[in-house]
Amino acid sequence: MNAPFPLDKQQLLDLRYMRMARIWAENSYCIRRKVGALLVKDKMIISDGYNGTPSGFENNCEDAQNISLPYVLHAEANAITKVARSSNSSEGATLYVTASPCMECAKLIIQSGIKRVVYGEKYRIMDGIDLLQRAGIEVLFLKEQ
Ligand SMILES: [Zn+2]
Repeated sequence: MNAPFPLDKQQLLDLRYMRMARIWAENSYCIRRKVGALLVKDKMIISDGYNGTPSGFENNCEDAQNISLPYVLHAEANAITKVARSSNSSEGATLYVTASPCMECAKLIIQSGIKRVVYGEKYRIMDGIDLLQRAGIEVLFLKEQ
């Protein structure tokens, strides 16, 4: 890491959590695209997710034509719904996600009380990011390093 100035504590944590989210993405059995997400609150990872089918469905994200199946959940949606099944709350949490959230996930992020989103890869459609910013959520793009 060759930063022109020393990184502060939050920047270091952001980089490390993003690295963990990238590793978590390796769990995905999707072929076209592997995305990982972590939910962090008070310096604790309270949830995690990667893109894939709902529990109980076979581990295929794409059909025979390599088109993504409509019931595949995005990494953010999996992390948010996982916390919904736990005794924890996403209120005030930070979401680390390896790719920019789509519009559908942005809605979930807003409604789940997440206050900060750090993402690692820009996607061709950025309307999800626009929505997050309109909702007053802090959004940070963190390039891979
Ligand atoms: Zn999404």
